[in-house]
Amino acid sequence: MDHFSYIDGALHVEAVSAHSLAQRFGTPLYVYSAQTLRDHVAALRQAFAPVAPLICYSVKSCGNLSVLQLLVRQGCGMDVVSGGELQRALAAGAAPDTIVFAGVGKSAHDIRMALEHGILMFNAESEAELARIDAIAGQLGKRARVALRINPDVADAATPDKTATGGRHTKFGIPLPRALPLYRPGRYSHADVCGVHIHLGSPIPDAATYVAGIRRVEQLVGQVEAEGGRIDTVNIGGGFPASYATDDAPLPLADTGRVICAQLAGLHARGKRIVIEPGRAISANAGLLLASVEYVKQGWDRGIAILDAGMNTLLRPAMYGARHVIWPVADAGARGAWRTVAERRDAALQVVDVAGPICETGDVFALARPLPPLTEGDVLAVFSCGAYGMSMASQYNSRGRPAEVMVDGLQVREIRARETVADLLSHEIAGLRGL
Ligand SMILES: *Cc1c(COP(=O)(O)O)cnc(C)c1O
Repeated sequence: MDHFSYIDGALHVEAVSAHSLAQRFGTPLYVYSAQTLRDHVAALRQAFAPVAPLICYSVKSCGNLSVLQLLVRQGCGMDVVSGGELQRALAAGAAPDTIVFAGVGKSAHDIRMALEHGILMFNAESEAELARIDAIAGQLGKRARVALRINPDVADAATPDKTATGGRHTKFGIPLPRALPLYRPGRYSHADVCGVHIHLGSPIPDAATYVAGIRRVEQLVGQVEAEGGRIDTVNIGGGFPASYATDDAPLPLADTGRVICAQLAGLHARGKRIVIEPGRAISANAGLLLASVEYVKQGWDRGIAILDAGMNTLLRPAMYGARHVIWPVADAGARGAWRTVAERRDAALQVVDVAGPICETGDVFALARPLPPLTEGDVLAVFSCGAYGMSMASQYNSRGRPAEVMVDGLQVREIRARETVADLLSHEIAGLRGL
């Protein structure tokens, strides 16, 4: 479900042509569709309606302030994993009592800031962190609401190793057998240990993995309550899939939601507040990357299109081996949703590699990809990169990070200025003095 489609041979983002955006703002350029973001929140709300969850959007998937502001206006809370993300969420207008804070390495400074703002809850990842939260809350004269992030030793076979977080060999969460004593009433003086959190990986294509995780949570809740503890919040994390390939069913969220809600029904009926932390399910298919062809060079075996965007702009192919659909924004005769147009087999296609300008062998978006014939200056769209695109971009090779724009119907707004080389150097200039 998105608003990227070809109208008379030209890719449009809602009502605006992608080529005009490339001309106006330059490339590489991240472009987001406001209506797609709204639609995804609505789809999640509908899929999970039986348990009426608080939707805490995962800021790390795409943390632009304007994206966060739009989602706050759709009623989303925020899931943050650092003090920096907490400040982002607050700057975008998120209410502190809708913010949950995960991450294995929370600093004392970040914990203090979160307590001073009065966030909804910490998702504590270790006994040591819990002790630190308790101590800092004591110093500040505050009470800390804490969920324990459990490591239930549940891993989805289809989730890539690099993003599986629920297995026993990962650094995440508290091993399930260690959790029970931490809920004992009176164990901490300033921390209310009143929630359970799991986040099993990204993405998790199979609802059965959530079900397995929730079963362990139910058992734990039963044990905690039998010992006089109190749990008011169950947070099942994120990892709800986005659609990366043309032959994907667009967001099979309704089915996933139905199965997960059925498993959560008991906890919900007993008054537990349910929290979900979707990132990519909201942002991935709401964004694309526009890049220009710098050169088409001839390699040993085939042509290689060199783009002005690389692993510094979009890291997922190099980091995860992720596959993204790539297609020219101008394709005479193309009409309709990008999914049905991009990667057509009927055109006179040429097999090329699509690579970036960075001096790394791994700086490749696609190998041996059939594409319409490309020439210098052509603008390409890399689809489904609203999540973990800009948020993982770097300045490697001293290339500033790209601009970001938001399209809403006919309206276009630059929501992040392109970084200049002066921006990059500004943090170093002072160091030259006196040498
Ligand atoms: C990254 C992350 C998410 C979001 O994952 P998606 O795959 O983008 O949905 C949710 N919760 C936590 C704790 C995370 O670290």
